[in-house]
This record gives sequence, C-alpha cells and structure tokens, in this order.
Amino acid sequence: SVREAGGDKIVSLSKATHKALNRKALIEKRLLQALDQKNLKVLYQPQIDVKTGKISVVEALVRWEDEVMGVVSPDELIPIAEETGLINNIGSFMLERACEQALIWKKAGLHLKVAINSSVREFRDKNMAKSILDMLAKTGCPASLLQIEITEKFALEAEAATFITQQMRKLENEGIVFVLDDFGIGYGSFRYMQILPIDTLKIDQTFTRSILKSEKTQKLMHGMVQLGKSMELKVVAEGVETAEQADLLVTYGCDAIQGYYISKPVTPEEIEELLVK
Ligand code: C2E
Ligand code: MG
Ligand code: MG
Ligand code: MG
Repeated sequence: SVREAGGDKIVSLSKATHKALNRKALIEKRLLQALDQKNLKVLYQPQIDVKTGKISVVEALVRWEDEVMGVVSPDELIPIAEETGLINNIGSFMLERACEQALIWKKAGLHLKVAINSSVREFRDKNMAKSILDMLAKTGCPASLLQIEITEKFALEAEAATFITQQMRKLENEGIVFVLDDFGIGYGSFRYMQILPIDTLKIDQTFTRSILKSEKTQKLMHGMVQLGKSMELKVVAEGVETAEQADLLVTYGCDAIQGYYISKPVTPEEIEELLVK
C-alpha cells in the first residue's frame, strides 16, 4: 500500500543518511591519523605555456589512499575537510610539500612554479598570510615560485571580508600569484574582479568538455578569454583532453593549457621526465 511504501521510504532515507554520516565520521577520523603520519601524497599536473611550448606551472593536487577505505577522491575529501576544519591541516601540508618541491626544482635549474589550491576557510585565519610567508622562509622557496588557486566562492567571501583581501594583497606584494580557478561556474558577480589581486583566470573544465559540441560554448569561452585579456590577466584553460580542444583554445588566445592532453597529475619524477621530452 501507499502507506507502506511511504514507510519504507522514510526507513531507507534515514539508513542512507546514517551511512553517509558514518562515512564522514570515518573519513574525519582516518584523515586526522593520515595527517599526523604525513600519509597524504601530492601529485603535480603540468600546464603548458602556449608561447614557449614548455611546462611553466605545475599544480599540486592532494592524493589519499587509506589502508581501510582505499582511495578517497579530493571531490569527497575536500568538502568534508572544509566542514571539519581539517582543510587547514591539508593546506599547510600541501604548502610545505609545494615549497620543498619548488626549491628542489629550482636547485636543479628547472624553472617551474608550483600552484596550490586554497579554501577560503584557511584564509579566515587572520594569520594565514604570515603562515605562508613563514613557510617560504623556512623552506627557502622564493615567493615568486608559488601560486595560489582560489575559487569564485573564495573570491566572493574575500571581497566582503577586508582582512582576507588584505592578506591576499600582502602575499601579492611579496610576489605570490593568485589564480581564479573554476572560472565561470561559481557565482554571478564580477565585482570581486575589481578588488582582488588576481593574476590569472583558469576557465572551468566543464566549458572545455563541451566546446567541440556546442557553438554557444565556443562563443562563451572566446568571450571569457577576451574578458581576461582585456583585464590584463593571464588565461588558462583546464580539462583539455584533445588536440582539437587545445587548438581552438589557442586560437582564442589562451596563455596556457592544462589537461589530460598534456598530462594527468603525476609524481615529481614524472614531471622531470616530461621536461626532457
Ligand atoms: P581543480 O583544482 O579544479 O583541479 C582539477 C581537477 O580536474 C583535478 O581533480 C584533476 O585531476 C582533474 N583534471 C585535470 N585535467 C583533467 C582532464 O583533462 N580531464 C578530466 N576529466 N579531469 C581533469 P582532483 O585532483 O580529483 O581534484 C578535484 C578538486 O579537488 C580540485 O579541482 C580542487 O578543487 C580540489 N583539490 C585537490 N587538491 C586540493 C588541495 O590540496 N586543497 C584544496 N583546498 N583543494 C584541493
Ligand atoms: Mg586547481
Ligand atoms: Mg579547476
Ligand atoms: Mg575543480
């Protein structure tokens, strides 16, 4: 009967919720331990500079394979870490690794900048800028080798919170570059682009994915590149998987290309192999 079906629904819904909550609690617990033991890994995904044809920037992406749960993807991990506050720990782990790696490459005579992804929660800490500068000093990594990728969600909150904008300016003055990641899918406001020290737009990969299939997407992406250029920003296309997509984006004037067409995220050793190719 209808009533029975309704009853079932309530039971199965609460079971699903229960399961999700259990998984979240388990992730939180295991993540805390993984951070403690520095059991997270970092892979690096290169960007190709269109003008030189060379790898100019590599993006550090967190990887976690837990003994009990197996691989937990960033798409599952990061939102839980943001909610629980463990994103601060992930952020400082990634920052330290990125700085160390950038310095190793610099000493080897390779000119590679390293980009990390930052969540706005990390910048709610009034000491964030100082922590980053301290880490640069501790590792000996020049500020000019570090890029920080933020999202539109971050930008919106930063615009409204003066102390976040100030921290960004402080870092920019030291030579750190801010990249607006996943550009175009966030929130309908460009106001932050007047205020925040943004150097680069990275157009979201959902646009790249449909560019060959949709004339509207082509016009949209061309327009986004032009917007970036007219504001004297660098423009990067992400999620580029084919030569055809790359060609089109290069004709639009993109400064750099990132995606499986160039390389998936790989180890530092594999980055070095890509450089000699
Ligand atoms: P993102 O920063 O936009 O990074 C791009 C994501 O797309 C990465 O997934 C990358 O592996 C994937 N990708 C790159 N090229 C291609 C392509 O050509 N095709 C397809 N299908 N995918 C591609 P990943 O590593 O799973 O990371 C997902 C998201 O998680 C990142 O998106 C970023 O927002 C977040 N994230 C990853 N690591 C960190 C971190 O250390 N801190 C923070 N706060 N967020 C992170
Ligand atoms: Mg990114
Ligand atoms: Mg992105
Ligand atoms: Mg993304």
